[in-house]
Amino acid sequence: MKSKKINSLKVITSANEMQKISLAIRRKGKKKVSLVPTMGALHDGHLSLVRKAKKKDGIIIVTIFINPIQFNNKKDLEKYPSTIKKDIAKLEEVGVDYLFAPKLEEVYPKGYQTKVSVTDFKNHLCGATRVGHFDGVTSVVLKLFNITIPDYSYFGEKDLQQLIIIKQMVKDLNLPIKVISIPIVREKDGLAMSSRNIRLSKKARKIAPLIYKGLTRARDEFKKNNKVITKKIIKNLRTYYSSKNITCIEYIKIINPKDLSYPLTPDTKDYILVAIKLGSIRLIDNLKF
Ligand code: AMP
Repeated sequence: MKSKKINSLKVITSANEMQKISLAIRRKGKKKVSLVPTMGALHDGHLSLVRKAKKKDGIIIVTIFINPIQFNNKKDLEKYPSTIKKDIAKLEEVGVDYLFAPKLEEVYPKGYQTKVSVTDFKNHLCGATRVGHFDGVTSVVLKLFNITIPDYSYFGEKDLQQLIIIKQMVKDLNLPIKVISIPIVREKDGLAMSSRNIRLSKKARKIAPLIYKGLTRARDEFKKNNKVITKKIIKNLRTYYSSKNITCIEYIKIINPKDLSYPLTPDTKDYILVAIKLGSIRLIDNLKF
């Protein structure tokens, strides 16, 4: 058995073992299984997913796997933070039942060939520059679904495009899993929590909260005049960011989350999303109108 018991948290590294455990839980039929997939370096954003899952009073499986096939930038992968000991302590404290933390070869053994791909949605927003990223995400998430066989799976609105794509995959492939979305958890100064934040320089960390400030300004502009056109909101937000020395903007978009279309004039169901680079760190954030 490739597992180690740490208080009530069981750490599993073998996909077979994890699958056997999940199958046994499901066969008993008494408890539902909730899955929270992550790449580790856990923060309160991740833990809010776990806390929400705990409300279901079933078995909670968290996965930690830094998935190389979703990184289109080798340096970003190499520098992705890994804090497994601290992560385990946090998961124990919240009261998680299983941590599935496989090694690379366990997920992608020699000879691995299959990919899962959601077609159109992956070409927009983050997918436009991070080529291959969402195919990597859907491929690994489907594998994690098959290994952990959850009733529910939790995803953060922080990665809104990812959430939309996963929901689409679940629908398209008739997966018997309910996807539950969780609002963005922020630092006190408004910065959306992210594992990448610890890599921000002091200077970048100081201006990073202005990303969210800009989004709230854009939303306020819409609230004041709900006939304002998308183009104007985006132009004003660009001007605001550049006045604050935030110049490396990958995109500012307003989308309808149902079909990832771009409305000419937003309404209250729409979101404004940004991807911004501060130094070498790429941050994303979004806000509902
Ligand atoms: P990651 O480890 O970055 O792949 O994230 C794992 C899950 O946690 C994803 O569903 C993310 O959307 C979610 N997540 C990450 N940061 C936050 C946050 N600040 N608030 C809510 N959910 C988050």
